[in-house]
Amino acid sequence: MNRVVPPGAWLGLLGGGQLGRMFCMAAQSLGYKVAVLDPADSGPAASVADRHIRGDYADPRCLADLAALAGAATTEFENVPATALLLLARDIRVSPAAQSVAIAQDRIQEKGFLSGHGFAVAPYAVLNTEDDATSVDAKLCPGIVKSARLGYDGKGQIRVTTPDEVAGAWIAMGKVPCVLERFVSLAAEVSVIVARTDEGETSTWAVAENRHRSGILDVSIVPARVPSAVAEEARRVATAVAAKLDYRGVLCVEMFVTTAGKLVVNEIAPRPHNSGHYTIDACVTSQFEQQARVLAGLPLGDPRLHEPAVMVNLLGDIWFTERGAAAQEPEWAGVLRHCNAKLHLYGKAEPRRGRKMGHVTCVAPTLEAALATARTIKRDLGIPGADEL
Ligand code: AMP
Repeated sequence: MNRVVPPGAWLGLLGGGQLGRMFCMAAQSLGYKVAVLDPADSGPAASVADRHIRGDYADPRCLADLAALAGAATTEFENVPATALLLLARDIRVSPAAQSVAIAQDRIQEKGFLSGHGFAVAPYAVLNTEDDATSVDAKLCPGIVKSARLGYDGKGQIRVTTPDEVAGAWIAMGKVPCVLERFVSLAAEVSVIVARTDEGETSTWAVAENRHRSGILDVSIVPARVPSAVAEEARRVATAVAAKLDYRGVLCVEMFVTTAGKLVVNEIAPRPHNSGHYTIDACVTSQFEQQARVLAGLPLGDPRLHEPAVMVNLLGDIWFTERGAAAQEPEWAGVLRHCNAKLHLYGKAEPRRGRKMGHVTCVAPTLEAALATARTIKRDLGIPGADEL
């Protein structure tokens, strides 16, 4: 069966956020038209899509409209109902498969899948009942109680120091299924974006070193400043995770590098990832173009890194310079004056603290030069942590 969806045809997307927006732009650049299914009136993806089907992800009529138009469809976020992907897959090609998305949607399934296939994860216990929460192994503390579902950017997490705090944390979480994860002593956090085709052909991008602030990605530094053996191992692990999932599409594998130099898989995201945004400006093929290529059945593009890159996230906080003041557009001249800094704004109407509004990628012949630009931009925009880079 020839399953190639050629440029000029329609591709479908579930979800309306910035990842969807960047997917639309990359797919359109290849000549595709993109239809976005999203319940919001407007948003980052809908405002650039060729068509916006406004409705619920699980609405069979909306899904039928999407399937009638598009030759293939993907998703930009993991919390899309698996049933929506299954319904679509009856009529058109869908990547990633509902089953891969379902594993990444649930930390209990994810950890079971990873440890079951021999990938190192932080020691953990499943907390389904009060009994589970009151009888945890003391070796798992200090640790973090994480909700199994719907957690992102550090949300749905409570840190605990001793076993007797675990039950309180589980109750505070709303008695929903959780995991208790032992606190890992971190030397660095890294991620690898991997793309895999239906035929099992795989490619990975350079490893990103990720710095977080209040649980949200702040900066990605590429290539990661870890020993080359660790970077190679990270790419090998990401490739193996994609293979074990029989994954089709673009996947992010986030890992911890422990102070002992070992890699531990933290979580997987069945989609392009914030830590891969650098690929737009610093690589031959971006994660979003690759997502479109795999979806359309085209050959993979080259993921090669042209030059070192530092990506700085722009959160809504920088719209609020004074306490209690109304939101004010940041002074972008401080970014634009750097000819090696690429500004990306997501077109979100309402800035809020902690909300991802855009990013800047600094590209330079050396990592030190890219870091220097990133530090200056952080200072100019009032983003904390310039001196920690
Ligand atoms: P997550 O939502 O699981 O990615 O966690 C958000 C952030 O919390 C991670 O990027 C780490 O900085 C930190 N974190 C999460 N789990 C652990 C752990 N087991 N040990 C140490 N730090 C962690």
